Amino acid sequence: MLDGLKSSLGDAIKKIVKSSGIDEELIKELSKDVQRALLQSDVNVRLVLEITKHLEERALNETPPPGLSRKDHIVKILYDELSNLLGNESEFDFKPGKQNKIILLGIQGSGKTTVASKLAKFLTRQGYKVGVIGADTYRPGALVQLKTMCEKSNVEVFGEENNKDSPSIVKNGLKHFEDQPLDVILIDTAGRHKEEQDLLEEMDRINKVTDPDLALLVIDGTIGQQCFNQAEAFHKTIPVGGVIITKLDSSAKGGGALAASAATGAQIMYIGTGERIDDLEKFSPTRFVGRLLGMGDIQAVLDLAKRLENEGDDVRMKRISSGKMNMDDFFYQLEEVTKVGSLQGLLESMPGLSGMVKDDQVNQMEDRVSKWRYIIQSMTKEEKADPDLLNSSRIKRIARGSGWPEGEVKELIKNYKNSKNMMKASKGRQMQGTLRRMGLG
Ligand code: GDP
Ligand code: MG
Repeated sequence: MLDGLKSSLGDAIKKIVKSSGIDEELIKELSKDVQRALLQSDVNVRLVLEITKHLEERALNETPPPGLSRKDHIVKILYDELSNLLGNESEFDFKPGKQNKIILLGIQGSGKTTVASKLAKFLTRQGYKVGVIGADTYRPGALVQLKTMCEKSNVEVFGEENNKDSPSIVKNGLKHFEDQPLDVILIDTAGRHKEEQDLLEEMDRINKVTDPDLALLVIDGTIGQQCFNQAEAFHKTIPVGGVIITKLDSSAKGGGALAASAATGAQIMYIGTGERIDDLEKFSPTRFVGRLLGMGDIQAVLDLAKRLENEGDDVRMKRISSGKMNMDDFFYQLEEVTKVGSLQGLLESMPGLSGMVKDDQVNQMEDRVSKWRYIIQSMTKEEKADPDLLNSSRIKRIARGSGWPEGEVKELIKNYKNSKNMMKASKGRQMQGTLRRMGLG
């Protein structure tokens, strides 16, 4: 997959890296190379122009951060622009205590039924209780296919073999599941024609009876440019909240993924990489762009840029003491004080603090830090930057991801909040306060 795009973008990058100096002409040339590469990979023309316009503007006007060469900076900009378009990794955000209804949209053959059964298994494995409604009335055998695939995951499929009206099947299905303690109901729909009016009208009726919490658009990754129009047409009928690109195991160029994402403003959440039930992967924008650009060539550049971006300790300490600490800062402090042997040594070297912490408290603290490390690692980048986002469904997800109970996640958040508030109040009576807030005072 993506081979053509990968090599042509890779060549464009090599040209930059090998050049003796960067000037306007070279930047224009890079822009042209990138345009050609993206167009060949079925990325929509409008998008291509947008990306390269930003690329040119930024490459010409931005000064690289100290320590990063002009060439590397340009590679980094190209990477940024492509990644921006795809957004961050995104998660389901199920509301607890209710049946979250997810409707699958897409034309015939895009892979909806396959995705329904893949997701049913995937979510069941994550601990969610899932039900499926099969409302594909068009294809004979669709219901049997769905039932067979869901059977192994013990997920019930509701369907009505002799009913040809999808909206009424959905309605009956929702009624059927009404009293069951389900977290998620997946609704598989029919998609007989390409973007045709009567398909969209039927979708509109299904939308009205379903009132979905999320509409997922399933797009065949091998169709290229058409992705954009298809996604746009569906999006107008039912606002699309996430995209799944299927068949990325084949020789699909993958540029359509960028197009579908752009047409709907929704992020790609998962990709299908085969016909088997386990062939579903979480979509990683970084990995995807890395593949587009030929990661080998740019990994070193990105590493360097990242290191330079990582703020020095001064900046971090300033942020912490002004009460604007985020979850990363909190963990950084925890780690600092528990570095092997450092806590006791640190305390002894500080006249005001020696004798404050007993040995068993140090051990307790270290246990805690190792638990919290897993919990913090299960948070997304946004959650770490803004822990206020941590609502109960996110907490549930993090608990599951980290393997610790929800209570422990809440404990961590409580400590983080205390710590932050006290910093705000005391504005920097540093070490002593820090230790106390971490449960050591
Ligand atoms: P629907 O009409 O949208 O429900 O599409 P189906 O789920 O019935 O899939 C249509 C065809 O595509 C079937 O033969 C599937 O096995 C195949 N398919 C679905 N997803 C993938 C995938 O990720 N990779 C490959 N290679 N085939 C897939
Ligand atoms: Mg189907």
